[in-house]
Amino acid sequence: MNAPQAAADSAGTMIIVGAGQSGLQVAESLRSEGHTGRIVMIGNEPCAPYHRPPLSKAYLAGEASEAQLTIRAPEALAKKQIELVSGVEVLAIDRVQRVVSLSDGRSLSYAGLALATGSRARPLPLPGADALGGIFALRTLDDTRRIASALADARRVVVIGGGFIGLEFAAVAAKQGRQVTVLEAAERLMARVVAPPVSDFYAQLHRDHGVGIELGAQVVELVGDAGKVRAVRTADGREFAADILVVGIGILPNAELADAAGLPCERGIIVDACSRTADPHIVASGDCTARRLSDGSLLRLESVQNAVEQGKSAAAALMGKDRPFTAAPWFWSDQYDVKLQMVGLSAGYDTVVTRGDACTRQFSVCYFRAGTLIAIDSINQPQDHMAGRKLLERGVGPTPAQAADTAFKLASLLD
Ligand SMILES: Cc1cc2nc3c(=O)[nH]c(=O)nc-3n(C[C@H](O)[C@H](O)[C@H](O)COP(=O)(O)OP(=O)(O)OC[C@H]3O[C@@H](n4cnc5c(N)ncnc54)[C@H](O)[C@@H]3O)c2cc1C
Repeated sequence: MNAPQAAADSAGTMIIVGAGQSGLQVAESLRSEGHTGRIVMIGNEPCAPYHRPPLSKAYLAGEASEAQLTIRAPEALAKKQIELVSGVEVLAIDRVQRVVSLSDGRSLSYAGLALATGSRARPLPLPGADALGGIFALRTLDDTRRIASALADARRVVVIGGGFIGLEFAAVAAKQGRQVTVLEAAERLMARVVAPPVSDFYAQLHRDHGVGIELGAQVVELVGDAGKVRAVRTADGREFAADILVVGIGILPNAELADAAGLPCERGIIVDACSRTADPHIVASGDCTARRLSDGSLLRLESVQNAVEQGKSAAAALMGKDRPFTAAPWFWSDQYDVKLQMVGLSAGYDTVVTRGDACTRQFSVCYFRAGTLIAIDSINQPQDHMAGRKLLERGVGPTPAQAADTAFKLASLLD
């Protein structure tokens, strides 16, 4: 996309919609890029920007406090003269007048606007999903508080969806002694993003911790009792009793505000590598976006790295500068004592090489396309992950035979 260059206005009011990871990055980068005018960050959650990853990990497990979730406290924002408006929703954008309307009745004019509206949990498309008690999504701090409280009284826990969030929650619930069953409609876990050796490893890891992993299990019915979920039924007629049900079946980008304002959206707000939308005064970053790549395809990423890097690009674009985000994507997931670190995009791989022995719980899976390394998933192997980041950045990599040889150090290719 050849988006028009934003008209830089270093003293005008910059408005950021969404006070999450990416919105915060836009705000702070605007200041560090030299913006001297007002910066107003508007978020519909009632709090300062916070880290979401611990919501399904340390915070849920009771190993991190709520204070530790805060990325930047209001006082720290005030010091940078970043105005935080919490608990207020941006309802509409008037792109002609360059004005946003807020749920508290105010209208604010902008010189530049950043959309960092994030995403929301995909709702379970079954009757009763929004009416029965005991059914939870895991996206916000409030969700996690409610889940933690319900988990305390639950014995049988069913998780719908064997993706990262469902599995991280399952690990915490199992460690707390709950009887946990994960129902995954696909034939393997995390099938959208990892190769079979990684899926198989995680299925075994969870089973070793007493979690029931049911693959090819499509939930078709919710069974309620006195307004509360009691069980779920799968397409093959089985019934799984549940005191609580946690649904982790993916997310939907919050792109409606942009769409209603006439910005091109398709699986997210469409942006270029510099986070520019089709409107020269509006940028977008983080989970709400879909990035147009040079081959015309759209890339959707849902990660902290993407939120931060696109946020930096968005701020630069509002200042009239090009700062494309082109680095290899990376991500992590913590389940039990196992850290998965992923780098690169494995979609379209034709060869997978396992480096090391999965039984040792320390191995990597290298993905190749036409002989070229395109991604690495590392399990308790941070050195492979860090080497992978640099290798993919430089466009160099091992041959499949080198990757399979654990005596061969990936980092040696960086010398
Ligand atoms: C449980 C969980 C675990 C995760 N674990 C990992 C992990 O291990 N590693 C990793 O890399 N990533 C992880 N992620 C993903 C990562 O947290 C997200 O990619 C990141 O938070 C995206 O940042 P964002 O700013 O785009 O969106 P968000 O953090 O969602 O922030 C967007 C904010 O905008 C608000 N908003 C939306 N519309 C409006 C409006 N109209 N007006 C005002 N405010 C609005 C939203 O309510 C929200 O507060 C995890 C996410 C979750 C939920």
